[in-house]
Amino acid sequence: MSYITALKCRECGQDYPVEPLHVCETCFGPLEVVYDYGRIRAALSHKLIESRPRNLWRYRELLPVDHEPDIGPCSGFTPLLHARRLGAEIGIKRLYIKDDTVNHPTLSYKDRVVSVAITRAQEFGFSTVSCASTGNLATAVAAHAARAGLKCYIFMPEGVESGKIVGSAIYGARVITIRGNYDDVNRLCSEIADKYGWAFVNINLRPYYTEGAKTFGFEIAEQLGWKLPDSVVIPTAGGTILPKVAKAFKELKDIGLVKGGAPKIHSAQAAGSAPVIHALHKGTDLISPVKPNTIAKSIAIGNPADGFYVLGAVRESGGWGEMATDEEIVDAIKLLARTEGIFAEPAGGTTLAVTLKLLAQGRIKPEETVVVSITGNGYKTLEAVSNAVEQPFVIEARLDDFDALFERLSGGKRLAGAA
Ligand SMILES: *Cc1c(COP(=O)(O)O)cnc(C)c1O
Ligand SMILES: [Zn+2]
Repeated sequence: MSYITALKCRECGQDYPVEPLHVCETCFGPLEVVYDYGRIRAALSHKLIESRPRNLWRYRELLPVDHEPDIGPCSGFTPLLHARRLGAEIGIKRLYIKDDTVNHPTLSYKDRVVSVAITRAQEFGFSTVSCASTGNLATAVAAHAARAGLKCYIFMPEGVESGKIVGSAIYGARVITIRGNYDDVNRLCSEIADKYGWAFVNINLRPYYTEGAKTFGFEIAEQLGWKLPDSVVIPTAGGTILPKVAKAFKELKDIGLVKGGAPKIHSAQAAGSAPVIHALHKGTDLISPVKPNTIAKSIAIGNPADGFYVLGAVRESGGWGEMATDEEIVDAIKLLARTEGIFAEPAGGTTLAVTLKLLAQGRIKPEETVVVSITGNGYKTLEAVSNAVEQPFVIEARLDDFDALFERLSGGKRLAGAA
């Protein structure tokens, strides 16, 4: 059932066979999957997609796998929520939250890319899978590897949230933390991939892995009734998801599944790790690496592999990008939780905080249909906000004590009996 024909270098166009390869031998450009769009156009329709289970495999013709997948049977197809209360508060009527806080099974967008990468790893016959991760990728690889019955090694920088360490080790994965930042981890993992021959989902399986991110965009279009929004705000870490959402929209147009619409695609980074936004604001293609320092650890990548393609996709779409300070990120996490009942991790706070800035700048207009990407769950990053919420009140198990507390809390105006 495969519709992939080859891998191709994004820079020089050289063709490669469909194997665990990721860089071009001649120019070191990244390799990308090539599909037979003519056959996909003939095979795929709204009706066929809508008849399938509510998971990311409903778009399987546009994903780089050969066989009927059984990894990630419940991954993807997360809610697109019309955020009416948040929208009223910030002044956008058609505001939508694409909610990957409830992605199955590890509560982040990474369940998409990993479902595809591990399916491909099995098809290539690997017995050990691995990754260089800022945390969410780790938990996704560990969980999906467990279900696939594969051995799993996880590499993370020291200092990641404990939820991400425990949340990986629980699945039986070996967790190794590295004294250094994500970019140090990534460099080491490239060496290990070469020497040990493991499937590193985001290194030697990267061309396949990254394609899984398109499903975020496919779902937005389908959930808006096969229409594209006016603006989408997307967080940028290594730079996978943003260009792949742009690609998803383009593919749907090319094969005739959506008409018109040219969404502005906006990038969001944390101020403590914003190399792509700095380059965007300077008007250059040159991304100067930074040393990350932010509570948004899952998107703290100082030297993003695909940052260049983020700049290209943002500019081509007429979008923009902004950064948010840690304080703005925490405020946005609280705003989303208070208005919509969604608890995002700092990456989600970043996208919402940036949405507010773009709105204030007039880059997003109040009458637009706007999608804010919430890519990870706050339950994994309690450290980031535990000091920013009201601490619990402690009383004895006596009604008098509660009466006194309630009077204090309600400013002494109302007493028991009145609701
Ligand atoms: C990995 C990740 C992203 C996006 O990362 P890219 O490398 O740019 O695709 C966004 N949000 C969360 C929560 C993540 O874990
Ligand atoms: Zn090349």
